[in-house]
Amino acid sequence: GAHKIIDLLNQEIIRQGLMERVETVPTGCQGFCEQGPTLVIEPDQTLYTLVNPEDVPEIVYKEFGEGEHVERLLYVDPLTGQPSKDYKTTQFFAKQHRIVLQNCGVIDPTKLEDYLANDGYTGLKHVLKNMTPEQVIEEVKQSGLRGRGGAGFPTGLKWSFCKASPGVKKYIICNADEGDPGAFMDRSVLEGDPHSIIEGMLIGAYAIGADEGYVYCRAEYPLAIKHLEIAIKQAEEAGFLGDNILDSGFNFHLRIQPGAGAFVCGEETALMASIEGKRGMPRVRPPFPAQSGLWGKPTNINNVETWSNIPHILRHGAQWYVQYGTEKSKGTKIFALTGKVKNTGLVEVPMGMTLREIIFDIGGGIRDGKKFKAVQIGGPSGGCLPESMLDLPVDYDTLTQAGAMVGSGGLVVMDETTCMVDIARFFLNFSQSESCGKCTPCREGNKRMWEILDRICRGEGKEEDLDTIEQLALTVKETSLCGLGQNAPNPILATLKYFRSEFEAHIRDKK
Ligand code: SF4
Repeated sequence: GAHKIIDLLNQEIIRQGLMERVETVPTGCQGFCEQGPTLVIEPDQTLYTLVNPEDVPEIVYKEFGEGEHVERLLYVDPLTGQPSKDYKTTQFFAKQHRIVLQNCGVIDPTKLEDYLANDGYTGLKHVLKNMTPEQVIEEVKQSGLRGRGGAGFPTGLKWSFCKASPGVKKYIICNADEGDPGAFMDRSVLEGDPHSIIEGMLIGAYAIGADEGYVYCRAEYPLAIKHLEIAIKQAEEAGFLGDNILDSGFNFHLRIQPGAGAFVCGEETALMASIEGKRGMPRVRPPFPAQSGLWGKPTNINNVETWSNIPHILRHGAQWYVQYGTEKSKGTKIFALTGKVKNTGLVEVPMGMTLREIIFDIGGGIRDGKKFKAVQIGGPSGGCLPESMLDLPVDYDTLTQAGAMVGSGGLVVMDETTCMVDIARFFLNFSQSESCGKCTPCREGNKRMWEILDRICRGEGKEEDLDTIEQLALTVKETSLCGLGQNAPNPILATLKYFRSEFEAHIRDKK
């Protein structure tokens, strides 16, 4: 309903003769999905949530006519029980640390001047003026940034592989094919701060020696594609994209490739095949994309959140960035907090924050007075963790050891009424239907596992089913060709590990 609210605001501002004093700024997502549409009065940072069209005249009249807040419509902070006057101090925002999301919900993403006014393109200017490509790669290595797409591979090291590959023609790609159920972090950055991705890619292209790049973006994200198109055009007109950028002699051209609607196209080799116009199917590595990628040329792929971190690192330096996070997982991570939690939305927190802090301190805990049961972290490739794991710090290595993964950042919270076998079936159903069918373990194994789970959920499970499914899961994990198949059994393995009694109860009680 945000667009309708903006239209009404504009009409009201004209009707009340406030055009000289008041301006509406349509922004990207502020992250507080549970309470949308939201409206912030600047510069006070007063937050109105769940705004209805009929509230608009009163808000405009009171805020800009009488200079008062409409107390009954203000967001009441659950922490204090008081109406919020500065939203950044409220429960949902206070513990967040926003680096990548700092412009989302603040600037108009269709205006280059808004991005420039918030230090936009200063990272690029600094790099082109003062740094060699080698120094840029070293700075990114020093920052400790790891790929935010799921695997967590060190970004600077990845860049150095592509830079070291022989050849004059190289490509860089932004993987914006976000497809996990419950994940919308990349979408928010694409829609709310597209220039940050372009700036990150420009810096990466300069460091690696690439003169051409693609953003491979889900076709299901039309607003993201529209905002990117606008941003690319603006950057070209302002001399940030094209030939001889800012008179540095560096050339870089960027295009958007809409995705083909397949989850597996988020896998690097499948993504490149899709850009080349082929069927999006993973291929065996080596050769790795850094040696032979798009059209056989050395190619570096990072996801949206990774690229969007880059301008901040080069603007403030690696030493600034390493103050956030843990020893081996630096910086912040965006999570899509969904499910049975009170404050659903997008949260950005320093790596190492515990699941308990994210779910209870930021998320406000479980809805309707119910008890927490589990959290699925990392989407269909991740795992369900029980209450005993709530104090785990969220970082790449700890979560992997616990049987889950940071993944792209989906956090689905479940309460005591959730059936964990059903949840495992849901995620497995997603993976088996998205399998590209190229290799047998993933194509057949995931389907067979889903059939067994479905049988158990229908109360027709057999005693031997748990051994069979566990064995199948381990085989699929070890023998599948790409990450989709290798990680598809994770939700089953983690659920069997932490909630085995629920599987046994289904089999025993035949329901
Ligand atoms: Fe395709 Fe699955 Fe094999 Fe990946 S693991 S190549 S998705 S069949």
